[in-house]
Amino acid sequence: MRTGIATVCLSGTLKEKMQACAIAGFDGIEIFEQDLVTSPLSPENVRTMAADLGLGLDLYQPFRDFDGVTPDLLKANLRRAEAKFKLMSRLGMDTILVCTNVATATIDDDGLRASQLSELAELAGDHGVKVAYEALAWGKYVNDYEHAYRLVEMVDHPNLGTCLDSFHILSRDWDTAPIEKIDAEKIFFVQVADAPKLSMDVLSWSRHYRVFPGEGQFELAKFMGHVVRAGYTGPVSLEVFNDVFRQSDVDRTAVDAMRSLIWLEEQSANWLAAGPEGAASSGAASRRRYPMELATLPKVSEPAGFNFAEVKADDTVQLEKLLGQLGFAFEGRHRTKDVQLWTMGQARVIINEQAASHAEPAIAALGFDVASPVIASARAQQLKAPVVARRVQADEEVFQGIAAPDSTEIFLCQGSPDGTAAWTHEFGEGLERTGQAQNAVIDHVNLAQPWQHFDEAVLFYTSALALEPQPFAEVPSPSGLVRSQVMQTSDAAVRLVLNLAPAQQAAVQGTQTVRKTYQEHIAFAVDDLVATARAAQDRGLEFLQIPANYYEDLDARFDLEPGFLATLKELNLLYDRDADGEFLHFYTATVGSVFFEMVERRGNYDGYGAPNAPVRHAVQYDSLHRT
Ligand code: MG
Ligand code: MG
Repeated sequence: MRTGIATVCLSGTLKEKMQACAIAGFDGIEIFEQDLVTSPLSPENVRTMAADLGLGLDLYQPFRDFDGVTPDLLKANLRRAEAKFKLMSRLGMDTILVCTNVATATIDDDGLRASQLSELAELAGDHGVKVAYEALAWGKYVNDYEHAYRLVEMVDHPNLGTCLDSFHILSRDWDTAPIEKIDAEKIFFVQVADAPKLSMDVLSWSRHYRVFPGEGQFELAKFMGHVVRAGYTGPVSLEVFNDVFRQSDVDRTAVDAMRSLIWLEEQSANWLAAGPEGAASSGAASRRRYPMELATLPKVSEPAGFNFAEVKADDTVQLEKLLGQLGFAFEGRHRTKDVQLWTMGQARVIINEQAASHAEPAIAALGFDVASPVIASARAQQLKAPVVARRVQADEEVFQGIAAPDSTEIFLCQGSPDGTAAWTHEFGEGLERTGQAQNAVIDHVNLAQPWQHFDEAVLFYTSALALEPQPFAEVPSPSGLVRSQVMQTSDAAVRLVLNLAPAQQAAVQGTQTVRKTYQEHIAFAVDDLVATARAAQDRGLEFLQIPANYYEDLDARFDLEPGFLATLKELNLLYDRDADGEFLHFYTATVGSVFFEMVERRGNYDGYGAPNAPVRHAVQYDSLHRT
C-alpha cells in the first residue's frame, strides 16, 4: 500500500512538515495549497527537496468551487485552473483535487456540470494533469461519492477521475459497498480520516475533529476493503484536519499518523480475509490477491492480565506505608537493583528507586501478560513504538519494553496460567515470606494523558495491545471536565482508563513550583471490601474523606439498608449499583501524583463507579488546595 499524508495534518512550515513525513516513512504527500503559498521555497525548491527526501508529491489540493456555475464564472475558473496546472508542472506534480462546488454553484444540472468538467479535463490534459473530483459531504448540489462518479462517467475523459475521501462518505453514512463498482482506472486518489461520532454540522465536524485511523469510530477497514476490491492501487493518504495535531510536535504527529496507516493496512487485510462481506467468504477465495498488496503485522492477542504496576519514587516511605496499610506484603528487594516488590494475591506493585532522584511518587510502568512477549514486541516496534531498554544481569528475566505516548513504560511479560510471575524470585532472597491472607488482582489502572497525546494514546493501545476503546465519558471536576476513555480487553481482565485532564490541572499553582497535580491511580479488586477497609483502618490508613452529603444522596437514590449505609459512611466507602450488579470502593490519600483504590465487584458490575468520580475529584481538589 502506498502511504501518503496531506501537509495540512501537521504543524510547522512546509519544509518541517516534509522532513517529518520523510522521517516517519511516508511514500508521498499531498501539498495543501496554503502551505505552498506561505512558503519561502520556490516550487522548484519544493520539487528538489521532495526528491531528496524520497517523497512523492502525490496530490495538489484543494481546487474549490469550479462547476455548476454561470458562463462568466466558468471562464474565470478555467483561467484559475490553468494557473494551477502550470504551477503543478513546476512542482513536477500531476494530480489535482477538485472538490464539488459549495459556494458559487447556482445551476443544479448534471448535464451542465458534466460539460464544464469536460472543459476542465480537456485543459488539464493539455498540461498533463489529472483531475480527481471529490464529493464534499456539504457540497451544494453534489455531496455523494456515487453522484460525483456518475459525473466522471458522463464526461468519460482520461484526465478526469474521482477522489474517495472516507470522511465525506462515512460522515454521511453512505453505503461503501458500491465503491467496488467504480472502475479502478477512474479512482485517481483515496484519502482516509477517522472521526469520533459527534452530532454537529458536518463542516465543523470535518474541519476540527478528524483524527487518524483507529482514533475515531468510523468503519475504515471496511471502507478500505471495498477500495482494495475495486482494484485501486494508488496512494492511501491521510487528510486529517484536527485542532490538536496542528499545534503539536510535527515529528511526533507524523509518526502517530504513520502508525495509523500501518494499522489500517493490517485491519483492511483482516477485513478482506474474514468475510462474509470481505472477499468471497472462505477458503482460497479469502486469500485472493488484489492488485494492491497489503502488508500484515506480527499477530496480536489481547493481554491476559496485568503482570505488575510500577511506581517510581525517590523517597519511598509514604508508598511503603500506604501499601502496608492496605494489606500488601513486602516481598523484599531485588537482588541487584534498587527495587522493591509488594504483593497482595496476584496484584504486584514494584517500587522503583532507580534513576528517581527528586522524583515525586508516580506511576512509571505497567506489565502486561501476553502470549508471546517477542511477537508482541515485534508488532509494537513495527508500529513505531519506541523501545525501552532496561539493564539486566545475565540470570534475570529480560522484559520486552516499549514506551507509551505519555512515556509510561509498557512491559510485555510472559503470562502463566496460574497468574504467577517467575521474575518475583529475583526478589527477597533470604526473606521469610509470610503467606497471603487476602486475594487480590489489579482491577484497573487510571493514567492521565497530556492533551496533545490523547488520541495518539488511544491508537497506541488499540494497535499495539489490542485493547478496545469503549465509548468515552466526561466527568465533572472542580477544575474542568475530565474526558475519560476506557480501553479494555473483551473479557475485561485488563482495564486501562485514559483521562484527559483539564489543562489547568497540570499547570503551575500560583507562585509554587511546578508539580504534577493531576493524579493517577492503581485499583485493586478484592473479595470483601468491607473487611479490607476495616483491616486497613486498624493499620491506620488515611482514607480519602467522603462528604456526608454524598451518603444522603446515596440513600435517596438506592434506599440502602440503614446498617449497610452506616458502614459505608463510617469507612468512607463509595457505592454504585446497576442492572448488572454492585460496586464498592474506596480511595487512599495521594502521595506524589499517585493514589490507590480498592474495589469489590459484585455480580457482573462492569463499570468504575462513574457517578462517584466527581466526588473523588472534588475531595482531591479540596485537599490539594488546602494549605
Ligand atoms: Mg478530502
Ligand atoms: Mg478508578
